[in-house]
Amino acid sequence: MEKGEEEKPTKAGSRLCCICNQRRAALKRPKTLQQICRECFYEVFEEEIHQVIVENQLFKPGERVAIGASGGKDSTVLAYVLSELNRRHNYGLDLFLLSVDEGITGYRDDSLETVKRNEIQYGLPLKIVSYKDLYGWTMDEIVKMIGLKNNCTFCGVFRRQALDRGAALLKVDKVATGHNADDIAETVLLNILRGDIARLSRCTSIVTGEDGPIPRCKPFKYTYEKEIVMYAYFKRLDYFSTECIYSPNAYRGFAREFIKDLERIRPRAILDIIQSGEDFRISTFTKMPEQGTCERCGYISSQKWCKACVLLEGLNRGLPKLGIGRSRGPNNDRKNGTKETNGAKSIESKQCGTLDF
Ligand code: SF4
Repeated sequence: MEKGEEEKPTKAGSRLCCICNQRRAALKRPKTLQQICRECFYEVFEEEIHQVIVENQLFKPGERVAIGASGGKDSTVLAYVLSELNRRHNYGLDLFLLSVDEGITGYRDDSLETVKRNEIQYGLPLKIVSYKDLYGWTMDEIVKMIGLKNNCTFCGVFRRQALDRGAALLKVDKVATGHNADDIAETVLLNILRGDIARLSRCTSIVTGEDGPIPRCKPFKYTYEKEIVMYAYFKRLDYFSTECIYSPNAYRGFAREFIKDLERIRPRAILDIIQSGEDFRISTFTKMPEQGTCERCGYISSQKWCKACVLLEGLNRGLPKLGIGRSRGPNNDRKNGTKETNGAKSIESKQCGTLDF
């Protein structure tokens, strides 16, 4: 089951819905613990996302928007809800599905079948970009060479660029991803635990990458994962819920469990962690990475070569540890004392087995 977190909706008993006061309550809303009926749940769920989109001016009329689609619950619900809201509120968006095929047999090939069905179900054109075409390697081949250590580093770095390249091919103005409130709270905690100030300062931003090739936005920034699961369940949406066969991520998994525990005691904890992340101020003495471009491929990078080029060089030379951790690599001659911003700990790429990028 996806992230080990698939939960059937909590039964709400025989009470009346506390919103409409007419129909029987069908669930207890995880975010507010209100007992509500399905119809009211759909309405508040969709309306909250609409408000987030409007208040944060995520889209402009006429924009082309790619939805990062993994076939998982988050991106499937995002594709469904965005199509609905686009129609209902006349956003005037041209929506597309954009998928990345990492080349993981028994996982991504199956989840892409789901995305292909979503293409038909929602009438959204689909573009798939693959690691094999872009980098000459599949994740299956990479894991064969490097084993199950650091595989997610390669995968996360490659995915970030792959998504940008796919977005460029689709000529979109923006990429919308299915990162939800739980993901963002988890990322705030991880960045604190790692002392990664640069990422901590931007991981709560609802729009990122405005200085890069194509901005990304997170319409689900305040949407709880449990509510996404409920919505997908009640609407009977077609999504894929198996975890990546190469997923280790003990560290992220620990942060996730911690947040789930907090949520059980106090559901607001998720929103409060996000707010804490937003309110952190970076000391003016903290040196931030300077953004430049990779000398090799032209992608944004704070180093001479971007992380993807360093990792690829290592793979092609049979030295896969190049670019991992402290090993020596092509960037070592630039001593700027800052961390690689496209690097191994790419939090925005959501390095997990059930990626919604
Ligand atoms: Fe890639 Fe995620 Fe699988 Fe790691 S767990 S190999 S990042 S798809």
